[in-house]
This record gives sequence, C-alpha cells and structure tokens, in this order.
Amino acid sequence: MTFACKNYVLEEDRCKRLRCECIPGRPGCVLEGRMALSEALEERIRKLEEERKARRVGKE
Ligand code: SF4
Repeated sequence: MTFACKNYVLEEDRCKRLRCECIPGRPGCVLEGRMALSEALEERIRKLEEERKARRVGKE
C-alpha cells in the first residue's frame, strides 16, 4: 500500500499537523477512525502520549 499525506514532512520524519511523530491513524490524524490500529501500535501511541504529558508537567 502506498500512502502520501500532505501533513507529513519528509525531511523531519514528522507530522506538521500534530507536531509529533507520524503514526497513521493516531488521534488527530486525518486517518483517525478510517483504519484499524494493531494493539502494538495503540500501545506505542499510549506510551508516546504519556511521555508528552510528562514533558509538559516538567515544564510547568
Ligand atoms: S500522523 Fe496522520 S496526519 Fe500526520 S502526517 Fe501521519 S498520516 Fe498524516
């Protein structure tokens, strides 16, 4: 399968829409709800969100 997203910044390997790592189907992604995520991918997203929240708390 080939997929091109206008929000993906190739040079940075990041999503400019969400300002984080591109994980197709993650919350806020244009593909959210349009595809099924594997359990492993859901777990990865959960860990990344926890890390992001922890960084925010550290800045406060
Ligand atoms: S996370 Fe979704 S919206 Fe963002 S670049 Fe990846 S596919 Fe596109």
